[in-house]
Amino acid sequence: MRTLITGGAGFLGSHLCDRLIQEGHQVICMDNLITGNMDNIAHLIGNKNFKFIHHDVTEYIYVEGALDNILHFASPASPIDYLELPIQTLKVGSLGTHKALGLAKAKKAKFLLASTSEVYGDPLIHPQPETYYGNVNPIGPRGVYDEAKRFAEALTMAYHRYHGVDTRIVRIFNTYGPRMRLDDGRVVPAFISQALRHEPLTVFGDGSQTRSFCYVDDLVEGIYRLLLSNEHEPVNIGNPHEMTIREFAENIARIADIPCRIVHKPLPQDDPKVRQPDITKAREVLGWEPKVAFEEGITKTFAYFKKKLGM
Ligand code: UDP
Repeated sequence: MRTLITGGAGFLGSHLCDRLIQEGHQVICMDNLITGNMDNIAHLIGNKNFKFIHHDVTEYIYVEGALDNILHFASPASPIDYLELPIQTLKVGSLGTHKALGLAKAKKAKFLLASTSEVYGDPLIHPQPETYYGNVNPIGPRGVYDEAKRFAEALTMAYHRYHGVDTRIVRIFNTYGPRMRLDDGRVVPAFISQALRHEPLTVFGDGSQTRSFCYVDDLVEGIYRLLLSNEHEPVNIGNPHEMTIREFAENIARIADIPCRIVHKPLPQDDPKVRQPDITKAREVLGWEPKVAFEEGITKTFAYFKKKLGM
């Protein structure tokens, strides 16, 4: 198996590189490093089954030789990143997906799109099944990501139906673990680094909004199973264990063994009030469900950030 992973130097992409190398694939990792980082793949450099190509996938993608799979994971993925990189976010979801699908068609490769729970927007149905069409504000600050991913799903289905490309779509819910960027602004790295520095935890709004957090190893297992399956329509992969952001802050303080000090900051525009994946389909079609308990995953993530902060 020869597999291209776009965004391979990012948080999820680099874990997928590791997993596929473990499964015996030859992996080509492509990244323009605007949010990805070479540190995430440093341990793979020199491996004869691994190759890194520095490239922006919104431009024509050239890969020599045969390809069996393309995993399209390139995109800024945190709310702060897509506020700072709105045009790049729209381009990689649209033009980048077009280039990656064109390559899949030319190479007769299987194509897997990294989509997102953001396609459900600020959901009016809870938990969210794949059949829910979502509640997205196209012109809000998150619209650049949400609409790019919705377009990417539409384009993927069109290449599947019209060109017969063998496609998969995973809708990824909040995921955490080692290799998240300390400064990506997402709640997991934010609270963990604040806890490690004994700073108050920045809760946006009153903290009553909910999220459901999946450990990265579970997510990678779900994606690998989806790749091996025959499912062409979207599948949610995430952990249904839901909590409010305030509860999340309290949990982080407890695990860090520090008093829970909170400072409230304004709630960002269009911040979804609730989010929890309905994983019935993943259970039925992939025989998958998350295995890593919250405490265990968070403890491993703490260890990673501690090291990163030189503690
Ligand atoms: N959040 C927070 N404090 C932070 C960062 C985020 O309270 O320092 C909140 C954010 O408003 C959202 C939730 O935590 O309700 C998850 O945010 P994140 O940026 O991790 O991703 P999202 O799920 O919104 O895409």
